[in-house]
Amino acid sequence: MNSEIIKIEDKNILGVYNRFQIALDRGEGVHLYDADGKKYLDFGAGIAVCCLGYSHEGYKTALKNQIDKLMHTSNLYYSKPVAEAAEKLCRAAKMDRVFFTNSGAEAIEGLIKTARKYAYTKDGHHDHEIIAMEHSFHGRTMGAVSVTGNEHYREPFEPMIGNIRFATYNDIDSVKALINDRTCAILLEPVQGEGGIRPAKESFLKELRRICDEKDILLMFDEIQCGMGRTGEYFAWQGMGVKPDCMAVAKGIGNGMPVGAFLMSEKVAEGSMKPGDHGTTYGGNPLACSAVAAVADIFEKEGIPAHVRELTPYFEGRLDGLAQKYPTLIKERRGSGFMQGLELTFPVSEAVAAAQKRGLLVISAGGNVLRMVPPLVIEKEHIEEMADILDAVFAEKKDQ
Ligand SMILES: *Cc1c(COP(=O)(O)O)cnc(C)c1O
Repeated sequence: MNSEIIKIEDKNILGVYNRFQIALDRGEGVHLYDADGKKYLDFGAGIAVCCLGYSHEGYKTALKNQIDKLMHTSNLYYSKPVAEAAEKLCRAAKMDRVFFTNSGAEAIEGLIKTARKYAYTKDGHHDHEIIAMEHSFHGRTMGAVSVTGNEHYREPFEPMIGNIRFATYNDIDSVKALINDRTCAILLEPVQGEGGIRPAKESFLKELRRICDEKDILLMFDEIQCGMGRTGEYFAWQGMGVKPDCMAVAKGIGNGMPVGAFLMSEKVAEGSMKPGDHGTTYGGNPLACSAVAAVADIFEKEGIPAHVRELTPYFEGRLDGLAQKYPTLIKERRGSGFMQGLELTFPVSEAVAAAQKRGLLVISAGGNVLRMVPPLVIEKEHIEEMADILDAVFAEKKDQ
């Protein structure tokens, strides 16, 4: 039962999470079931992770086969699933080198180390600076939180790693004002997730690319949330026409297996990380990599990015319809592909709870945004159902 599970977790789990009062038990397709048997349409996907939904046969079979063979080897040895995952991920990301991690935050740590080592290799100095963005989110480890543009996440844990500067997202002048001879990298999300579902302007990214090329500064994208098909391309930058030098990925690449990665061009790899500079025990072990390889195969076979592109106009159209119908409750729709947000004028937690009651799981993001990051395998009928439920939620709120 939900209540029994909740009681035990509340007693034992460190109290850092504000949780919804349901215990999820199993998933099938794009639906989840709680421990009391209630069914939910899932537009959260475990925070943009479960891109293939739940209980996908091909995915399950690949993992089960790998469990039967070998789960872990350490990175002291080669193994076929690692080779396959690396080749497929590099190809999809159009990058030359990959390092597998256990999480998104660790992938960001890898980018920070790469940026510092690249600059250090050039000039031997230790005072390089990284420019990150206000309202960004990059994870909770000390390095990742140091580049996260949210004072609330940083302040209790000061001092941060240092030499991080924050610019205003989509404001090129604010970036230019921070650039100096010590700047080694610019880090940003092509679509900000936690910060409130804010896509970057193409003109902003193009100008960043130009500045980085001119000064040999690394342009580093955090594609942890917006990557892996979510915007209708394998990675968001591929639809924006600006290629980074390095990128961090996680969430969707494993479809629920805890795995991330950071990737880079050959030029950056050549000029930065050398034997002994970095490592991990678990990172990209055969089981994790079998998940990455399976996800990549299924993406190709089922044409997932094209499916997202095809349904995006309908998804956006339904949300725009709601925004027009309830102008006093919805300030704006923002997003890209299957990463959509509605900025509300009343507390988003109320909307999330009301939707949950009606059998729809959605989540929130910063700036009072109702966030929708569904499995990428949703069909038109699921978007219809989502929009009808939200319509009922807003209608009820309006009548209050
Ligand atoms: C979730 C997320 C992270 C952190 O990933 P973890 O796996 O939770 O460490 C970093 N950046 C972005 C954009 C994210 O959405």
